[in-house]
Amino acid sequence: MPTRWNYPEPALQDELRKIANAIVAPGKGILAADESVSTCGKRLADVGLENTEENRRKYRQLLFTTDKQLGDYISGVILFHETVYQKADDGTPFIELLKQRGIIPGIKVDTGVIPLMGSLDECTTQGLDDLGKRCAQYKKDGCHFGKWRCVLKITEFTPSYQAIIENANVLARYASICQSNRIVPIVEPEILCDGDHDIERCQKVTETVLAFVYKALADHNIFLEGTLLKPNMVTGGSSCSMKFSKEEIGKYTVVALSRTVPPAVPGITFLSGGQSEEEATCNLDAMNRYPGKKPWALTFSFGRALQASVLKAWGGKEENIAAGQQELLIRAKANSEASMGKYEAGSVQGKAGEQGLFIKDHAY
Ligand code: 13P
Repeated sequence: MPTRWNYPEPALQDELRKIANAIVAPGKGILAADESVSTCGKRLADVGLENTEENRRKYRQLLFTTDKQLGDYISGVILFHETVYQKADDGTPFIELLKQRGIIPGIKVDTGVIPLMGSLDECTTQGLDDLGKRCAQYKKDGCHFGKWRCVLKITEFTPSYQAIIENANVLARYASICQSNRIVPIVEPEILCDGDHDIERCQKVTETVLAFVYKALADHNIFLEGTLLKPNMVTGGSSCSMKFSKEEIGKYTVVALSRTVPPAVPGITFLSGGQSEEEATCNLDAMNRYPGKKPWALTFSFGRALQASVLKAWGGKEENIAAGQQELLIRAKANSEASMGKYEAGSVQGKAGEQGLFIKDHAY
């Protein structure tokens, strides 16, 4: 096996490292607001609004015009293509609103999941073909990190070798194309919580999937210091008869990560995966309190668990915009505290606090 290769030149390494470190600066995390047109439509339907470009713009405007204090807790926002080019009512581009708050704009660059032939309902993620061109353009337009979500499923016979190796490789190719365009890749191999498996099975599957992912990233010469990982937390399945405490979830998650994620990776930004807002915050807090080896930042990149209360308080009504923004601020602050292991359970009561946000076979 020939073993000569190159990492990116020093200037590119510096740029990638700086972006990644800024995203996982102490007490900060990511707001995932990159719902596709159809997923955003479901959120809007919940508040009685039609899925029009204007309504999607109005909702994202609510998020991004929240008080500048938001930047104390949120370091990055993941956008969907359409949102990158939208503007507030007064003509300020959304990207500019984020910059004014010290928030780094990021972009979802995958184009969704497709079935793997011959598998048991498993999938891979597409979007590689013109990715280089799109990344170059997004960088020019102000996005400094990317997201690509792969999905793995736990059943008696899955995830299969086919799904594990394919998804690891596609994540590595995505990461390579991002880095060569000065974009920090957030590598997201999401293992869905659907199923009746217990926490130990989730732990073992998470470890196996992450081991394949980091092998693929190594094979593709990815500069790990300029990447972030966005995994699932290690929990029992959504229909598992046993319930696991936040301390158990914190411990199993940290142990799984410590066995598989190299210390060169600056941070791990968890997805919320259908947990309630309060559950997601408490589980993140428990990981940060767990006294194991944790050579990376452990923080949040929540979608549903940062937006459920916002949507509920807003209800699609002009007069409730400020109430929605207040919910975003308090939940972002709660997660900021959790990312430092300083959240007091129950201290933040959001409008949707304990409400489960699980969606079967969730698509983003
Ligand atoms: P949830 O936090 O709603 O799981 O979504 C985060 C995300 O970006 C999934 O790709």
